[in-house]
Amino acid sequence: MTPRPVEFAPSTGAGMTPDKRSEIPETTAAAVRTCTRCRLHRTRYRAVPGEGPIDAPVFLIGEAPGRDEDTSGRPFVGAAGKVLDKVLQVAGLPRPQLYITNVVKCRPPENRAPKADEIASCRPYLLAQLEAVQPKVIVSFGATALRGLLGPSARFKEARGKGIEFGRVPLLPTYHPAAVLYNRRIEGEIRNDLRAAARLVSAETSGIRRGRGRKRNRSHRVSAGSRGPSRAAKRSARPSR
Ligand code: SF4
Repeated sequence: MTPRPVEFAPSTGAGMTPDKRSEIPETTAAAVRTCTRCRLHRTRYRAVPGEGPIDAPVFLIGEAPGRDEDTSGRPFVGAAGKVLDKVLQVAGLPRPQLYITNVVKCRPPENRAPKADEIASCRPYLLAQLEAVQPKVIVSFGATALRGLLGPSARFKEARGKGIEFGRVPLLPTYHPAAVLYNRRIEGEIRNDLRAAARLVSAETSGIRRGRGRKRNRSHRVSAGSRGPSRAAKRSARPSR
């Protein structure tokens, strides 16, 4: 089954019953595992749909599966995954409580960046996952993940720390954890951005408890990471995976 190209509308629930919503990640994963919508299916070993609970407050989006992910069928399990686990722990975001996926679900050959048409082909799966999970905060890792969400004109440097949104959900672009493998200083910047995500979740949750529903302040600013990347960080912003 190929999911329909949906418009992401988390605040409305898109008219879905809870049962229907909870089915989407599994039907999407099943579709991804047999998908032939783009050329990447020819060279993958395993597709990597993504994983996480249906009610995850934070939705993490990377670029594409790497070698370890292609072997295991799970996202962020290689060296970059170890970095991610570490920064999530320090930021107070337990990985089992988060949803983690990539903009393309199959590994590009030689770890090249996904092409625009591959990202476009895979986008319905990402939108279906977002529609199902309805996260409180989205975190994108690296420039490709950001472009996969916002389109080819999105600029990582300009978007990071600017309090942008995707489908009325706060979107925090940060560096890809793989970049830390080449520049250790980036780890602190990712950690700060993830702490900002944790604070946003906390603020959203307390707002809901006070009866504000899912209404959001569109002018919010994210203080952590707003200084922008260092020169060294800029050089390493494009990870190999
Ligand atoms: Fe299908 Fe996405 Fe894999 Fe391309 S990358 S074959 S669109 S699941």
